[in-house]
Amino acid sequence: SVLAEADHKPERLLQMLRAVQVQYLHIPKAAIEQLAKALNIPRTQIIAVAEFYSFLHLAPQGRYDIYISDSITDRMLGKEKLLNYLAEKLKVKVGQVRTDGLVSLNNTSCTGMCDQGPAGLVNGYALTRLDYSKIDVIAELIEQQAPLTDWPAEFFAVTEEIRKPGLLLNQPFNNGTALAATFARGPAETLAEVDLSNLRGRGGAGFKTALKWRTCSAQNETPHYVICNADEGEPGTFKDRMLLDVYADQVFEGMTLCAAIIGSDQGLLYLRAEYLFLYEQLQRVLKHRRANGLLGRNILGRSGFDFDIEIRMGAGAYICGEASAQIESLEGKPGIPRVKPPNSVICGYQRKPTVVDNVETFFAATHIAIKGGQWFAEVGTAQSTGSKLLSISGDCARPGIYEYPFGTSIEEILRDCGADDVLGVQVGGPSGTFISNRELQRRIAFEDLSTAGSFMVFNNSRSIFDIVQNFTDFFAHESCGFCTPCRVGTTLLKNQLRKIVEGNGAAVDLEELNEICLVVKNNSHCGLGDSAANPILSTLVSHPELYLKQLKQSSFTPGFDLDATLAVARRMAQRDDDAAHLSQVEN
Ligand code: SF4
Repeated sequence: SVLAEADHKPERLLQMLRAVQVQYLHIPKAAIEQLAKALNIPRTQIIAVAEFYSFLHLAPQGRYDIYISDSITDRMLGKEKLLNYLAEKLKVKVGQVRTDGLVSLNNTSCTGMCDQGPAGLVNGYALTRLDYSKIDVIAELIEQQAPLTDWPAEFFAVTEEIRKPGLLLNQPFNNGTALAATFARGPAETLAEVDLSNLRGRGGAGFKTALKWRTCSAQNETPHYVICNADEGEPGTFKDRMLLDVYADQVFEGMTLCAAIIGSDQGLLYLRAEYLFLYEQLQRVLKHRRANGLLGRNILGRSGFDFDIEIRMGAGAYICGEASAQIESLEGKPGIPRVKPPNSVICGYQRKPTVVDNVETFFAATHIAIKGGQWFAEVGTAQSTGSKLLSISGDCARPGIYEYPFGTSIEEILRDCGADDVLGVQVGGPSGTFISNRELQRRIAFEDLSTAGSFMVFNNSRSIFDIVQNFTDFFAHESCGFCTPCRVGTTLLKNQLRKIVEGNGAAVDLEELNEICLVVKNNSHCGLGDSAANPILSTLVSHPELYLKQLKQSSFTPGFDLDATLAVARRMAQRDDDAAHLSQVEN
């Protein structure tokens, strides 16, 4: 039945392995043999896929398979003590399966619930706002072997706090209006409006959307594909979760009008595994749209325009947020980023022209199709038009979703979310930039602080090293292992940083840390390696005095000049202002 449900298509291998695991709590050898035979692919390919993804297992897991989010914001909310308490209650070690096979317990990277942590997953479903009393009940329910449907619904409640709606979230919307506007104006004319809007990709890279769509539509190779990247894995980001939870129609409508423009009849939504709770409701939205002529054949009665969307689940791999890695994953392979060129817009899914865009990009395109490009371009800055959704978490009174015109200062955002006594803000997640409290006048914009939407606030009770270590551990864990500078370098970074933080490093170790940052940043194959050193680099530049204080005085370091050593970090962080020099830092 697993094969039949996947229509015997090898590209749906990940979905098949997910289904096998639900049934057998792991992927048994016999299933691998059967799938290899039926799909006519090598069994080693199936094993490679099973080994690549964090949520797939070749050895049996517990009937209750629990993961607790190890994001820095969960840690700030006491996650570590809660995890140990849960382990004690359930009599299972973290990282192991209990001997009776009832329960397994693990850490995982961010689950996309930073505004309602400490968070976790049980059999793939999100658990939010965990506390000791909930853990007592969870432990009892597991011992009684109660099905998840009998657990209190509030344990799984995901709330969407839209604290500050702006240009897009405030817009009224009726199903089909963006498509009707697209057809009335014409697909080419609608593309001209997207061009006029200067909409840039909201996944972080900021590539111009109209250029991507135009390039794809110009390719002679067919078919063309539309992929919505909902693998929102950057710690601290949850705005795509909110969009899919509350505004799914507007996201699907954006994908559909993109299809009309580029000439596509097949769309795929790649949903991160941690958002399993959204799967059924998204399927219902798609069904409703089909029933109302907004998907399927002859959309809105327009003869010859056929388009449908399929949802495919990820299986726990941050790297699959990278477009080419995501395409590999959608083809049923390990999510290893492709060598470029060619870019996916020319040679993407199934080696055909493909547009991959972020959830928020499609959402914005829907409103641009209705209101026109000028309306959008009038907001923001010249290089960063429109608005940006931010997922705000950490030390603030009002975590949640905020929408701002590009160009808004960090200072203003901190005021709105109720953040006091600020130590700094991590803008753009671990791969982004740490902004110290001396730099709060900086702005959210592609030309200053570019972000996919993660905005984590830290107050002065926090340790910068706790933050940097958490992020550096994250990259070491999430490196896909394809290239040596990243695979080895991220682990070296983690170990070298630990040595310094624990007070065992001399000046030469700091120099070495700088050098490893340089090697990882300049020699890695994809964006993960390129940004893995950012947390160290940006804090070396913003808080050099902290690193200096940790160093052991050593006879091997006469005349050590930290400011000169940090020249490498400043170059890589592209900063050379006064605040980035040790002599300017107040003790
Ligand atoms: Fe994989 Fe890291 Fe290399 Fe990217 S840089 S391909 S994540 S090993």
